[in-house]
Amino acid sequence: METTTPFTEFGLSAPLLNSLSEMGFEKASPIQNMTLEHILEGKDIFAQAETGSGKTGSFAIPICEQLLREEKESDSKDDEKLVQYVTLSPTRELAQQTHKVFDQLGKHLGIHAACLIGGESIDKQKSLLKKGTRVLVATPGRLVDLIKQKSVKLDQVKAVVFDEADRLFDMGFQKDIEFILSKVKEDRQLIMVSATSNMEVLKTAYKFKSHPMELKLNEDNILVDHINHSLAMITKQEKMPYLVNILRENSDVYAIVFCNTQMQTHLVAEWLRLMDFKAKPISGRLPQNKRTRLMEEFRNKEVTILVCTDVAARGLDIKDVNLVINYDLPQEAANYVHRIGRTGRAGKEGRAISFCAHEDCEYLDDIYAYIDSKITKLELTNEDVTAEIAPKPYIDGKTLRPVDRNRSSGKKDRSSRDSKKAGSRDQRERKPMDKMTEKYDAPLERALPTPLKKFVPSEDEKRDRRFFITTSKNQEDADRAALGYYMITDESLLQREIVKKGPKRYFFFGPQNITYRYSLEAHYKKLLLPFIIEILNLSHLDVKVKVAFKGDTLDISFNGKDEGLFLRNRGEMLQSLEQICRLYLANKITLPSKLKWNVRVQGARGAGERSHDRSRGKKQDGRSNNRGNQNRRSNRPSEKDQKAREEKVIALAEEAKNKVINSKEPFTMKPLDPRDRRIVHQHLGEDDTVKTTSLGDGRLKKIEVSLR
Ligand code: AMP
Repeated sequence: METTTPFTEFGLSAPLLNSLSEMGFEKASPIQNMTLEHILEGKDIFAQAETGSGKTGSFAIPICEQLLREEKESDSKDDEKLVQYVTLSPTRELAQQTHKVFDQLGKHLGIHAACLIGGESIDKQKSLLKKGTRVLVATPGRLVDLIKQKSVKLDQVKAVVFDEADRLFDMGFQKDIEFILSKVKEDRQLIMVSATSNMEVLKTAYKFKSHPMELKLNEDNILVDHINHSLAMITKQEKMPYLVNILRENSDVYAIVFCNTQMQTHLVAEWLRLMDFKAKPISGRLPQNKRTRLMEEFRNKEVTILVCTDVAARGLDIKDVNLVINYDLPQEAANYVHRIGRTGRAGKEGRAISFCAHEDCEYLDDIYAYIDSKITKLELTNEDVTAEIAPKPYIDGKTLRPVDRNRSSGKKDRSSRDSKKAGSRDQRERKPMDKMTEKYDAPLERALPTPLKKFVPSEDEKRDRRFFITTSKNQEDADRAALGYYMITDESLLQREIVKKGPKRYFFFGPQNITYRYSLEAHYKKLLLPFIIEILNLSHLDVKVKVAFKGDTLDISFNGKDEGLFLRNRGEMLQSLEQICRLYLANKITLPSKLKWNVRVQGARGAGERSHDRSRGKKQDGRSNNRGNQNRRSNRPSEKDQKAREEKVIALAEEAKNKVINSKEPFTMKPLDPRDRRIVHQHLGEDDTVKTTSLGDGRLKKIEVSLR
């Protein structure tokens, strides 16, 4: 780790210097160098610091020093029982890590911190609080619960730390944080550490009368120089063979593999496990005790490949991680920096490789803009992206557990038997790799040496977004990919055609690559309805929509409280909606030229409101005017309405929770819009008894509430 001034020059107390020395900390890291004095002077700060730069020490060291100084000045022993410093962490793991740093620093100083996180016994935490503690490290939800249950008082708190402040706000903890701040006296110190400068964090600070000093390291330092990070332009199908090649080349690999979804983490980890890699997934679905155990297994290297999502891995400080793989490119540019910062920690060398398939490319420009440079592209050959790999396992979307699909349906093929054996036997019993593996369905040119009849999609087919062409050994996988491609959930709309069959693995039997060409059935209602409902939900408009198709007319009608808005500015909004719907459909199906559109408002409620029919009427003036925009703005829900709505959603969440507790069965809530879903996740997120899980993808996501 890059270091600057020796700690002896900060006027720190001797016992604290001893602790630092015991931890191997002789000199301050740049961020510690920057914050130490200001925090000791009692100033409010907003420090921009990446994890891995020594940011925990940047607040924990001055806090311990303050505690030692205050101890000297105080003649009352009771002060030692009052909570004086509170650190808020976005994730349980980060809180545990920060707690550990306080423990190490405070070992010989009589400083004991309490760690208050969800997923662990609240009663134990209560009795810890009864004994008295001066430092709390907590996740916001659990702390709010304990405050509400009157188990902790914060009126003597001298400083509050927001660790990874940007993430705390991204994860929707703002309301909890404001509640906590309202329980602390106004002149407390506010210490905010964040990887990015974040307006929401600063606005909250201002709201609570804090005007923090902004401290920033040279921005270049955010992307640590000693990480060798590069980009592999490959296809989706090449990701696993390439990963396997990388892992097999590095015998001492100690890696974190990042995926964008929980499902993908479980799939990748299971797939690697089938090939004898010591890989495990960590996801928010695992109960806290399992997550803690898993982190321990990774720390002591019983597990050497941790497959995780951003949320699960945020802030993890694991030394010696020598490889980070972005199996999927992060969808948020800032996460690129967070992810690759898991390696190259404490000044050690690190390597990061990001896989960029066609589907990932859309995130690349944002990443380039964020890091303000390009990423070196690796020159790959065919050998790099072909490897002997195990058959792809099948992961149950609900339980995230691997399942043997063919067993239940009675169908058995060798590949599934092989993968099952490989998954259940211990290593000594396993078949040699060459017997259990097969070539994965990499791109046609590479994976199929002698295709029976080569299928080459025409340029038109490749360009035409209405067709989706995919190759898979398994029809379910292909269907799932097609649903994802079309962004729909209704399988009945899929029209599937086999365009090519590859050779069977064992000549006459075994799995075979099949190329499918998908198109969609022109079922206007089934296609349009979920799409329009999502638009209405996102724009918080109180209207209902009806879609009907009769003769050659597609009739889309709206009615409800906000329907008047559709007619303002000569029906501008209706026109836009029609345009969006036309584009949406045209990207998915072939629209007959004679199709007539009748997009209208159903109820005539007041003068000037009329049906709008573009197919019959003249082209309307599409220009907007400010007055119209203002009108629209004033129609947004007021703060009071929002609050009422939030309370309604919380009541629904509580109702679901009680159902689960009484029945001991998981309960799936009715579909909610994204904002309401967030309220439910937030509200039940830190709950002891139940947890929430998102089911499905995209616009029809639902929340399942189940026992922890
Ligand atoms: P953090 O950014 O707090 O997660 O710290 C990253 C790593 O750097 C941790 O493993 C710390 O133990 C280590 N570290 C923090 N501060 C120092 C320091 N002043 N000297 C040496 N190592 C440090």
